[in-house]
Amino acid sequence: MLKAIAIKLVTLAAAGLCLLLVPPPLGLWLALAVVLAALGLIAWAVFDVNSSFWAETLWHNPAMEKCVALTFDDGPDEVFTPQVLAILREKSVPGAFFLVGQRVESSPALAREIAAQGHLLGNHSFSHGLFINFGLQARLTHEIEDCNAAIEKAAGVKPRLYRPPHGFKNPSLGDALRSLDMQVIGWQVRGFDAVARDPGRIATRVVDGAQSGGVITLHDGAGLQGSHDRSGTLDALPVIIDGLRARGFKFVRLDELLKIAPYAATQSSPTAPAN
Ligand SMILES: [Zn+2]
Repeated sequence: MLKAIAIKLVTLAAAGLCLLLVPPPLGLWLALAVVLAALGLIAWAVFDVNSSFWAETLWHNPAMEKCVALTFDDGPDEVFTPQVLAILREKSVPGAFFLVGQRVESSPALAREIAAQGHLLGNHSFSHGLFINFGLQARLTHEIEDCNAAIEKAAGVKPRLYRPPHGFKNPSLGDALRSLDMQVIGWQVRGFDAVARDPGRIATRVVDGAQSGGVITLHDGAGLQGSHDRSGTLDALPVIIDGLRARGFKFVRLDELLKIAPYAATQSSPTAPAN
């Protein structure tokens, strides 16, 4: 939040000096340019999923050569998550699932099953509402804490990794996450599978776009954003796994890729499946 206040003060001071010291119309244009530059900086910090301006964000680890990590958002979903789990089990690939707290409360056994199969559980807010991204620290803290409480009640682990809904961040998020000792996770490449249904396009985007150490984002949950049908993701997933293996990539779990602790300190992480 201090950064946001500093940006406002510096912008106001710089624009004011332009108006005071530079004769019009040049002074007016310079002041306008200062304001637009500040707005551009704020827009980048809010909407760029991998911007660390408001909150440090991890999205790749280039030191992990020829390794990638699969992540899935918006679950648990009673229809699609079990099918994703079956594909990962058949292919012996570990995943990380960023869960929505409300959905965990509705499907606690499924959240427990994801962890039991060796996958990682992360926090994707309690409600997944668009406007929580514009909330102040207290609202964000409640969203994150309530989601963690639902996951801990269902699966016995308390996540440290948080993916903001829609990938947006605001000045209060860094303060909230620091107080909770949590870490934002972005992505290096995504399948746009929340809106795209063509499995060929989803798979091509990921297989061609993945880089060493990259975090890949797909969706096992439906109905929160984009389409209500994840059959495109289900059809694309085996193609993505086979395609990246053909490119020489190995799948590791997100915490192994980024070398970070996935859960609160007192808890151990269930073992990831071999890959
Ligand atoms: Zn989401």
